[in-house]
Amino acid sequence: MANRGLMVAILCAFFLTAAFQTAFAVKDEVPLSTLEEEVLALLKGDEIVRRRNIDKVFELADLYRQKGNTLRAIELYEAGLTVNAANLKRQMELALLLMKYKRKDDAVAKAKLVYELAEEELLINDSLNLLQNSGIIIKENEYIPDLNNPVKIMIIPLGTPNMRVVKSFCQQMQEIMGIGIILSEKTRDIGQHDRTFTPVFLNDYFSGLKENMGKTNFEAAVAELGFKDKDLDLPENRKDFIYRIFEGQTNDAKEMKAALDKKFEETDNHLQYNTMRFLSELHDEYRGNKRADIKGYLAITNEDLYEGKSRFRFGGALPGRGVMSYHRFTGAFNQEPQNRKRLVTRTLKQGLSSANFVLGILRCSNPYCARAYPHSILELDQKQAELCSECQDNLNKYIRANKK
Ligand SMILES: [Zn+2]
Repeated sequence: MANRGLMVAILCAFFLTAAFQTAFAVKDEVPLSTLEEEVLALLKGDEIVRRRNIDKVFELADLYRQKGNTLRAIELYEAGLTVNAANLKRQMELALLLMKYKRKDDAVAKAKLVYELAEEELLINDSLNLLQNSGIIIKENEYIPDLNNPVKIMIIPLGTPNMRVVKSFCQQMQEIMGIGIILSEKTRDIGQHDRTFTPVFLNDYFSGLKENMGKTNFEAAVAELGFKDKDLDLPENRKDFIYRIFEGQTNDAKEMKAALDKKFEETDNHLQYNTMRFLSELHDEYRGNKRADIKGYLAITNEDLYEGKSRFRFGGALPGRGVMSYHRFTGAFNQEPQNRKRLVTRTLKQGLSSANFVLGILRCSNPYCARAYPHSILELDQKQAELCSECQDNLNKYIRANKK
């Protein structure tokens, strides 16, 4: 009990991190007049404050649009987008309204921007429709599979990846590797998820709490709350322990619990798929393959992957088969503005790594090679989207030996 004061102080420091501060923000329904007043103040105020509260501006713009107040909605979208141009969903809404309002040139300019940058298929299609209806011809990136190449890898869409991203990926892979990259016509059903992100998050949270409390405080709390030796190995007991620590707080216990519950809700919806399952399924399905030109199969998905006890995997591969995901390369995942070209480049780096493993070529140790092991998205971004000379030599040797 003597350490309680200290413990509370340590805990407060731990919980009041940025992630939890944002989690506390609960969205309430705001009456229109109040929202209008707030937005008016934001529009008059400085840009930093407007940017911080940009959701309110767009929320009101959406409401005006739904009520048919087009002119007001256009004004607000334009005002909001001046400080948050990366919001492509609102750029597209604005483009559609501008079309109605006979500002075709402005609408087309917005739609072009959305078409170029969007990572989400729905947004790309909306922008393309607007452009085509305005008589603008868009030349989509071409993908021409090299069917005559004697060395090929087949790419298999798994789940619901954006096929524009997949095709750009295939084209660039083919150009860099100098082998045929052919795309399976059949998309593979991804099936049920293998786990949610909750156990990973709970484990991280519990470890962070333990570390922040320090050994003495932690052990005192365990004894005081009546947990035994191995009890805290079980996830449900860890959760119970965390909540009971919250209850020991004089203030904010309710808010902390609500914030953590919200986080658990998010992690319950973050589904993950086991790479090993796909590797074994691909092995079973393609081991009878009689096509000598197809040297391996690489599945690509938009869903998040993991393997064993890892938090996540960008991909996994064995000779003859592999699986990779671009889930963690998207703007949505990294809380960055969407940028399809960047998404394809990141996917390409992972693809070069996975495809060479599929051909049985071991990893090199050049940190700038596309195949260098990336521990994070930052490390991935630092790599070149090309093979180092060692990998290129090994690939050339492979191609020479397997031409027939
Ligand atoms: Zn290399």
